[in-house]
Amino acid sequence: MAQFHETVLEIDLNALTHNYNYLTSKLQKETKTLAVVKAFGYGSESVAVAKELENLGIDYFAVAYVKEGVLLRNAGIRTPILVLHPQPINFEELIDRCLEPSIYSHRILKHFIAIAEEKKQKDYPIHLKFNTGLNRLGFLKTDAEPILATLKETQAIKVRSVFSHLVASEDPNEEEFTLQQISTFKRIAELIKAGLPYAVFMHQSNTSGVINYPQAHFDMVRVGIGLYGFGNSEKENKNLKPVATLKSVISQIHSIQPGETVGYNRAYKSKEHEKTATIPIGHADGISRAYGNGIGWVTIAGKKAPIVGNVCMDMLMVNITGIDCKEGDKVVVFGENPTAQQLAEAVNSIPYELLTAISQRVKRVVCRK
Ligand SMILES: *Cc1c(COP(=O)(O)O)cnc(C)c1O
Repeated sequence: MAQFHETVLEIDLNALTHNYNYLTSKLQKETKTLAVVKAFGYGSESVAVAKELENLGIDYFAVAYVKEGVLLRNAGIRTPILVLHPQPINFEELIDRCLEPSIYSHRILKHFIAIAEEKKQKDYPIHLKFNTGLNRLGFLKTDAEPILATLKETQAIKVRSVFSHLVASEDPNEEEFTLQQISTFKRIAELIKAGLPYAVFMHQSNTSGVINYPQAHFDMVRVGIGLYGFGNSEKENKNLKPVATLKSVISQIHSIQPGETVGYNRAYKSKEHEKTATIPIGHADGISRAYGNGIGWVTIAGKKAPIVGNVCMDMLMVNITGIDCKEGDKVVVFGENPTAQQLAEAVNSIPYELLTAISQRVKRVVCRK
């Protein structure tokens, strides 16, 4: 990967292993684990992450789109890969690369059967996705019967699993709703199982489902954010280790006189003699303009340096008044301090968004700390 600037995203495989061991310690021995590595492994490095997890004995991977699965196959990943939101334009490639589609509507089911038959497939594995309250993708319970009827008419595909997705597994205030989702899913899975002459497995839990709802672990769990070090609560974040650390350097230091301004639109005006540092990371790298004007900060020499003015496309400026540092010194954007959780919270966001926003211009460096 080309290195455009000195900003790098370090991916700590030992932290990943720690998180994997922590999450799987919550499971019954026979429960399988699927690792969600969509969006480049939540913005990290999906190939390095998948290879490490394959070595640890992961049972399944999931990606959102076919091309993300192709990236893993090209890197030699052999473990089954579920594609959560496959697009019909990619169905042929999906079959060619042994990826397994989530089938979530009659339209997609019929379309996929047509392609599988055209490509002379027999028992091609598919996964039936049911909507139990998220209202995003999925069949409804009333679809079970027509699905079974459609399946009887073809030899090309075979159901490998039935699954659903929890809406608010991290939120104790929504426990009643979650329990409702779990029981609805159980009833649906029973209908499908009863109508098929072979065994299928079932799964419903994401990271917070693993932590909060052991009764929803079923045959397999699908963990994403937890593997990358975040558990959707302060308590669980302490049990996990952030995999990604975003690091940069000071390009230049400026002494600012009282009344001078910093950055575009003169958004910051200094009141006294101040020092600013310019860092080679901007909104094109994934640090949104929302972090500007003192909302976000970086850590330099262990101290908090607030972002001054607007975040530029390729750079941002921070206030280093009173911080002992020089040009070329190390800057931490997120990692252990601040964590991606803390930084994301400053703009009412979540680590999922901040991590996946880090653009492909930032070099990924895989390490073991
Ligand atoms: C992204 C995703 C997950 C992973 O969720 P986390 O909260 O990151 O563990 C699991 N299942 C589905 C269907 C998803 O889209």
